[in-house]
Amino acid sequence: MCGIVGYIGNKTAADVILNGLNRLEYRGYDSSGIATIENKSIKISRAVGKIKNLYSAVQTEKFSGTVGVGHIRWATHGKPSEENAHPHTDCSGKIVIVHNGIIENYRQLKKELISSGHKFRSETDTEVIVHLIEKYYSGDILSAVKTAVKYLKGAYALGVISQDNPDVLIGVRYDAPLVVGVGEKEFFIASDIPALLPYTKKFIYLSDGDIVELKKDSCKIFDISDNITERKINTIEWDSLMAEKSGYKHFMLKEIMEQPQTIEDTFRGRLAVEDINEFFGEININPQTIRDINKISIVACGTSYHAGLIGKFLFESLSGISCETDIGSEFRYRDLIIDDKTLIIAISQSGETADTIAPLREAKKHGAKTLSICNVMGSTITRESSSTFYTRCGPEIGVASTKAFTGQLTALHLLALYFGIVRGKITKDLASKFIDSLIQIPHEISEILKKENEIKSIAKKFFKKSHFLYLGRGLNFPIALEGALKLKEISYIHAEGYASGEMKHGPIALIDENMPVVCIATIGRVYEKILSNIEEVKAREGIVIAVAT
Ligand code: GLU
Repeated sequence: MCGIVGYIGNKTAADVILNGLNRLEYRGYDSSGIATIENKSIKISRAVGKIKNLYSAVQTEKFSGTVGVGHIRWATHGKPSEENAHPHTDCSGKIVIVHNGIIENYRQLKKELISSGHKFRSETDTEVIVHLIEKYYSGDILSAVKTAVKYLKGAYALGVISQDNPDVLIGVRYDAPLVVGVGEKEFFIASDIPALLPYTKKFIYLSDGDIVELKKDSCKIFDISDNITERKINTIEWDSLMAEKSGYKHFMLKEIMEQPQTIEDTFRGRLAVEDINEFFGEININPQTIRDINKISIVACGTSYHAGLIGKFLFESLSGISCETDIGSEFRYRDLIIDDKTLIIAISQSGETADTIAPLREAKKHGAKTLSICNVMGSTITRESSSTFYTRCGPEIGVASTKAFTGQLTALHLLALYFGIVRGKITKDLASKFIDSLIQIPHEISEILKKENEIKSIAKKFFKKSHFLYLGRGLNFPIALEGALKLKEISYIHAEGYASGEMKHGPIALIDENMPVVCIATIGRVYEKILSNIEEVKAREGIVIAVAT
């Protein structure tokens, strides 16, 4: 996340690019930037905040070139600032790139490039790419890009231009989206189709590993094995609103579907358990601090609170640390028993949740150590805690949290795992097994999302019911709470989540032939117990909707 646009043709590139970036705005961003080739030199403008800030900069500086690239950034490495905004340039300032994605091995590459004399100007992972291109450049930009990308690990869609090759625009796609728009004596690149709909309806979908060399009147595509290849030109019939949601009816649905990708992005580059210092360095915490603490206290609100409840299980079982989870707005009114041996973990998608910020501040007064799990770089919570684990879910536009929740769960799993390793609770062998299962999750989720039609038909059957119960045990108890919250928030149907074992202490009285009960019954330690709870529901003629392995 988030987006790039590039142009080569006869139009004023800045107009096309700004218009395109504006149409990608729905993807969310924290800064933006543009570069064009003007009379044999590169002109760049970057701005933090709204795209209109970039518009004003471009207007005063008069961009008139016909080749260029632009970017809206959702920071993953380095805070949102003008220096970190794309485009980035090499040492000579002649090669320019925009990048969408994450370079996993950037630390290693950066070290090597700095020791061979390259000067870095930003904190981004992206900047290594342009210095690598510079390293392999000897007059032919295409071959320099081809060589440079061989050294990259991670996800990247790139747009590249170069002052000394002013009639070429290069696009690269690997694990991050990039399409080529085909016009009359002009070509475009973009992260998503809506950016280009005012200009063309003809698109080429690049495949992973493709590198495309665009000139005003030619398009050459090289596949991952560097063979020149043909890709089909598709003509699309989309109205622009539909396109903005990438064909989905709602942002929430789109974000649900993005989960395989956002989970993968969140663990990307963070699975090297053999080098714990890398992980602890990234989140800015000393491993000794984790050995010294005797308690974790998680604070969060709403959906993040439910993620926090799962975190409690994880920290206790994987790290062997006593853990409690509180609702932010309650925590601050307790008589807190915390000290410098307590680690406070604040969880918030936006990093601006007032009810989570207040307890964080309160805990600091008691000398507690602080860590945040957050999706927005540079937000208040990240500034106020001494260490941060960033989820990389991209902007969440839907009001009800979906992909941010599973991103937080990924974060909690990784933190609990690394804490367990430094405290000697789990061996590296066990950790690798754990990681092997974690990396299966994006695929497993994709498989579940394929059942959309089955899920829809269940919804159709029950949407007129006025009340629902959600039941789960262990890890699935917070999931039951989250399920009930989603149903209330989105369908305006009253729903309650319960620990299944609590049924007999009250809620069982509510069950009759009109009450749908969602039972989360996945195989595990408490599977037999939940089966008994299902029997109890059936004995009262309740409707069982099982979410089962
Ligand atoms: N990882 C890059 C950065 O933090 C690109 C982020 C994006 O795709 O917007 O600058």
